[in-house]
Amino acid sequence: KTRTRFAPSPTGYMHIGNLRTALFEYLIAKHDGGDFILRIEDTDQERQVEGAVDVIYDTMKTCGLNWDEGPDIGGEHGPYIQSERLPMYKGYAEELVKLGGAHYCFCSEEEIEAQRKEAESLGISFKFNDPCKHLSKEEIQEKLDAKEPYVIRQTINEVGETSFDDMVYGHIEFDGDLLDEQILIKSDGFPTYNFANIIDDHQMEISHVVRGNEYLSSTPKYNLIYDAYGWQRPTYVHVPPVMKDEHHKLSKRNGDASFQDLVKKGYLPEAIINYIALLGWAPETEQEIYTMDELIKVFNIERISKSPAIFDIDKLTWMNGMYLRNMDEETYFETVRPYLEEGIHSDIDLKEVAKIIQPRIDRLDQIVESVDFFDTLVDYDLEMYRHKKMKTTKEIALKSLKAVYEALSTFDNWADQQAVHDVLLALPAQLEMKNGQVLWPVRTALTGKQFTPGGAIEIAHILGKEESLRRIQIGID
Ligand code: GLU
Repeated sequence: KTRTRFAPSPTGYMHIGNLRTALFEYLIAKHDGGDFILRIEDTDQERQVEGAVDVIYDTMKTCGLNWDEGPDIGGEHGPYIQSERLPMYKGYAEELVKLGGAHYCFCSEEEIEAQRKEAESLGISFKFNDPCKHLSKEEIQEKLDAKEPYVIRQTINEVGETSFDDMVYGHIEFDGDLLDEQILIKSDGFPTYNFANIIDDHQMEISHVVRGNEYLSSTPKYNLIYDAYGWQRPTYVHVPPVMKDEHHKLSKRNGDASFQDLVKKGYLPEAIINYIALLGWAPETEQEIYTMDELIKVFNIERISKSPAIFDIDKLTWMNGMYLRNMDEETYFETVRPYLEEGIHSDIDLKEVAKIIQPRIDRLDQIVESVDFFDTLVDYDLEMYRHKKMKTTKEIALKSLKAVYEALSTFDNWADQQAVHDVLLALPAQLEMKNGQVLWPVRTALTGKQFTPGGAIEIAHILGKEESLRRIQIGID
């Protein structure tokens, strides 16, 4: 059975690259009808952040990445939080020592540093040569009894060439003698990522290990451990990084947006998910807009790319606009409503406003600013009445506004937008003017803005008779 896992460290935010990895893991499992497991990797105690696990839960739920086993819902292979699995790692490490795949190391940092310095002075590349490998059983026991601090290190015996097949990067060969004898259990008794991930993946029966390609070069070491235990190695799917540009990885540390930041900026979770599915994976067709169910159907590992994917915020913005336009009426209104309410406090019809902004907004955070004029008309520059293309000047504008005021003040069928349209568009002919010479000044008087969602007629209709006349009067004055 296909089983994948998402194994984030709780950092307090969801990095876009991590979310993309989680999505691929989810899609790979679900495409095969398999299980998606959530495991929290919190053994790095120095990096703990309050509430960080909740950020992971919330993000994944919001995005529809529902896990089949995890810390909150349990499962057959729990616990799913590494800090609750500590005694187990120690046991496994001791077993690995017996199997010859690891050894106790009592060297201090200073001793290792001294070796490194010496290698440097000789100009040779440093590889820690651990004297503890040659300790006898009795010597080790003595040191353990004397409570000398120690770590457990992987033992790399002469292995020569080692290789494995990755589903994305293909056949990978490594010179085994270059592999370092990494620490598996730290002196505080905690496992390193390098050790815990192997034990957990094995124990949780993970079939496909999907993770960032920065782990490719460590994988040979992990394989030696699988081999030492006599365990079957998982299938590896290393995915390319998500980049900000050609040379820089996208990273929260460098100020790049996290998932939470993007949502705050007015991007919809479904659009984000859709967009990041296409980062490093390409469908067989030209289709770009996908629901989660569609992604599950079409996603295949074969079409994950080796090359880094560049995060293109403009493309995401475009896609977000598509999502806003294609939403059903009800969902759309509920989505934009909080933003409309933030910008508009008078009792005008928010549904009407929602409708006229729908074709024009790409991000939710653009809404408040684009509708604030419905709420209050601010002082504007009279120069705005002058418009070359519309062939209006301040004088023409004044003439139009006066005529418009007169025509509208005796007009009562305001509820009918078509009727408002007819009254206004009767005027240019009467005044021997072009449409723009009437409509531009009206829109300016009603909004005080250069760019608005909707034209003069739609806006007058929404503002209502009293408010429209009041604003036109201000324009005349
Ligand atoms: N905790 C690791 C990380 O956040 C997980 C890597 C893996 O998927 O194996 O990078």
